[in-house]
Amino acid sequence: MTPPAGTATNRSRRLIVGNWKMNLTHADTVGYLQKLARGLPARYYHNVEVVVLPPFTAIRSAQTMVLSDGFMMTYGAQDVSQHESGAYTGEVSGAMLAELRCRYVVVGHSERRQHHHEDDTVVNAKVRAALAHGIPPILCVGEGLEVRDADSHIGHCTAQLTAALEKVIPEEAATVVVAYEPVWAIGTGRVAGPSEAQEVCAALRTTLGELYGQTVAGAVRVLYGGSVKSDNIGEIVAERDIDGALIGGASIDPDEFAKLCAIAAGGSLR
Ligand code: PEP
Repeated sequence: MTPPAGTATNRSRRLIVGNWKMNLTHADTVGYLQKLARGLPARYYHNVEVVVLPPFTAIRSAQTMVLSDGFMMTYGAQDVSQHESGAYTGEVSGAMLAELRCRYVVVGHSERRQHHHEDDTVVNAKVRAALAHGIPPILCVGEGLEVRDADSHIGHCTAQLTAALEKVIPEEAATVVVAYEPVWAIGTGRVAGPSEAQEVCAALRTTLGELYGQTVAGAVRVLYGGSVKSDNIGEIVAERDIDGALIGGASIDPDEFAKLCAIAAGGSLR
């Protein structure tokens, strides 16, 4: 069901991505994926692509389980180095992630921009590093509260998108996933209203159209992220330009994540 990395996918299938951040060990991952596999029956995967993003130390466990046990969810990474190889202590390259068959990699998360001072130049280099290895980046953009209060959020997010895609060719751009994550909504419990999220996601798609034309703009999946839970996922993915969600806190519990994925697929779990 999952297309090979580097291939544009059908927007009719929603994309739900669980960003575990620095949670869950290698051993926890085994139990988590078994629970998620039991909790989300196969029929849901026709409508939803489910991805988990464990810490680097647990990606190999996820790979082993997904490939050997035939689980239907896929996995990816939370970050990638902008460098190919060499003296970059602590970093993990695109080639290493490709060897582990990572389906996606997050780039430009606000926590990386904030705590690791990653600017638009670094984010662009990471987008290109991922694409060079056939891994679609999940490119995060989003404004802080001051920018939102100044009503500059659309310009801010579209500028981040444009900068991150510099020197990315249309064939590659069509495989990128864009995630609108207002910083004020991440881990705060304060979610952007569906129409607020739709407004920015539509503007991001318009920018993609200006940069690459309508075919690419129509192929790119645009996600919303920021305090999404099973209680609010339904109204978010009902919006026209929102193709799924990037989920932090609510993805740590496999039962809650399974419930959320089922709702995104248009169903529910008892
Ligand atoms: C995130 O980390 O990308 C995120 C959206 O976190 P949360 O769902 O906890 O707000």
